[in-house]
Amino acid sequence: MSEITRLPYDVVVIGAGGAGLRAAIEARQQGKKTAIISKSLFGKAHTVMAEGGAAAALGNVSQQDRWQVHFRDTIRGGKFLNDPRMAELHAKEAGERVLELEYWGALFDRTSDGKISQRNFGGHEYPRLAHVGDRTGLELIRTLQQRVVQLQQADAVELGDPDAMLKVFAETTVTELVKDGERIAGAFAYIRESGEFVLFEAPAVILATGGVGKSFKVTSNSWEYTGDGHALALRAGATLLNMEFVQFHPTGMVWPPSVKGILVTESVRGDGGVLRNSNGERFMFGYVPDVFRSHYAESEEEADGWYTDPENNRRPPELLPRDEVARAINTEVKEGRGSPHGGVYLDVSTRMPASEITRRLPSMHHQFRELADVDITAEPMEVGPTCHYVMGGVEVDADTGAAVVPGLFAAGEVAGGMHGSNRLGGNSLSDLLVFGCRSGLGAASYLDGLGSERPTVAEEDLQAAVAAAQAPLQREAGENPYAVHQELQETMNDLVGIIRRGSEIEEALENLAKIRERVANVRSEGGTIYNPGWHLALDLWNMLLVSESIARAALEREESRGGHTRDDFPEMSPEWRKVNLLVSLRDGKVRLRQRPVDPLRPDLLELFEREELAKYLTDAELPAEETAKE
Ligand code: FAD
Repeated sequence: MSEITRLPYDVVVIGAGGAGLRAAIEARQQGKKTAIISKSLFGKAHTVMAEGGAAAALGNVSQQDRWQVHFRDTIRGGKFLNDPRMAELHAKEAGERVLELEYWGALFDRTSDGKISQRNFGGHEYPRLAHVGDRTGLELIRTLQQRVVQLQQADAVELGDPDAMLKVFAETTVTELVKDGERIAGAFAYIRESGEFVLFEAPAVILATGGVGKSFKVTSNSWEYTGDGHALALRAGATLLNMEFVQFHPTGMVWPPSVKGILVTESVRGDGGVLRNSNGERFMFGYVPDVFRSHYAESEEEADGWYTDPENNRRPPELLPRDEVARAINTEVKEGRGSPHGGVYLDVSTRMPASEITRRLPSMHHQFRELADVDITAEPMEVGPTCHYVMGGVEVDADTGAAVVPGLFAAGEVAGGMHGSNRLGGNSLSDLLVFGCRSGLGAASYLDGLGSERPTVAEEDLQAAVAAAQAPLQREAGENPYAVHQELQETMNDLVGIIRRGSEIEEALENLAKIRERVANVRSEGGTIYNPGWHLALDLWNMLLVSESIARAALEREESRGGHTRDDFPEMSPEWRKVNLLVSLRDGKVRLRQRPVDPLRPDLLELFEREELAKYLTDAELPAEETAKE
């Protein structure tokens, strides 16, 4: 029997990206003893890689911007499948959260009159992304970490120990949530550096583990993004929603192979970059869907005019929501108009002077020079779709971030609902600030409701978690986890990727069933200290659950919408728009059920033209003629 260290906390936050840090700060500010756990080094999370900016209707660059317009853009981008309460809270509170960051020390780029500058991004009607060059996420994380340190310094003065109320556990991976009856009682983890197992005992756990991209072969995500939070939630009895919606970012690097999938920020297009095929055509003009036609330019002249005179010109089609652009690139390549390495061209070199490119897009300039030997001030980039973001996630209460399991909360990318079927660029950084804060508050008030009565962890549950974690190390023979991972990634990429078909998803599910047997038999050599093969063996269970959830939901939804395109059901269906698919786990098996999408309140419906609503809603859902905006 292993002796496990028990660490008592009020709130345990799993994940140290933007959502986790903002949640932990809030829980600590509410007086709760809080642990922040991070699978990788502190400061290394996807949030740090975010380039474009955080969307908030501050109205600094265009005074017409306001939360209602941001809400409308978000719902349009999500194709009316978003949780309306989440989208409303997000649009209303994003500005406050961005200003709070500035108050805590973030140095945003400025307008000429000294306000926080805001840039254009796909799907946003006005320039809305508060940014720091193309390194916004770095500044966001730096600021939140600085705030954590500030709180710790105050505790050092007051309590004699900086870690007394807020402690960071870096390179520590949670492999299981533990419960006392129906309630959360803590999180079980291993520490990479020492190889030790530890139990964080806490009545409230906030999941902030980010995305799932490592289930796909071509992805912008890094090694930690194996869907751990999604799988932990499922195994603890929570539900996931919208798992069929996976965002393929239109512009990832395609060459050289070692960097395939690495992100090329949307800021390149927001700042004037254009997409061309091998014939030199700006092909996006041919891909504007009917639902967006009235908002997008019809000629290159009008599109180019928009950058300097947005009042009198419509937006360039390169700035359509990501799902539209990704599908268009996919089609161009498939029809033989792609670049030599299977992408299309993204060009800024002919659009602005070299000095402007290096000022506005320093990271992209560096990235292409270092990784692909391409000078983006002189030649176009080659780009193609890459798996980037998951819209699906833990089903939560919009106001508190509470999942259906008492004591479990989720925020940021691991939570579902906010972005509907497709996320707009820049809406993730604002999402994680808004709902990170709300989940910290939610966890604190849950604790207040518990009083002195706290859940406990049974020794047998703890030993079961140890046994599961050690299993791959104790098998005498078994498969290599890397080989199994590769097969899982290929299955998801090729059969449940950007364009899906029923028969292919069924094939994927058959493959996943076989992969499940193999995962149960993987073997890792060595011990528990810094052992990536063993870590992968444990992560495989999470990727498998996530993949099964995505595939099952993708098979069920017989329509195309946002980040879910079915070749065999190419239309958007107003009947399916009313449905959220919920995933749960019963007897170890992924189950699906349907739940109605919450309707938009009449005052929110009024933000849309009736003509636009008619493209999404059933006749019965449409408001009376006089209610909709004229
Ligand atoms: P993350 O920042 O992803 O952090 C997750 C944390 O959870 C990490 O600390 C990780 O180590 C930890 N973790 C995971 N599993 C475990 C476990 N089992 N145990 C312990 N810890 C765990 N969005 C925008 O809005 N604007 C942008 O410009 C933008 N650019 C992007 C560029 C790139 C290259 C990428 C990949 C994403 C970009 N996004 C952008 C998306 C956005 O960055 C992410 O969706 C967002 O940062 C997610 O934040 P998060 O706090 O939810 O999780």
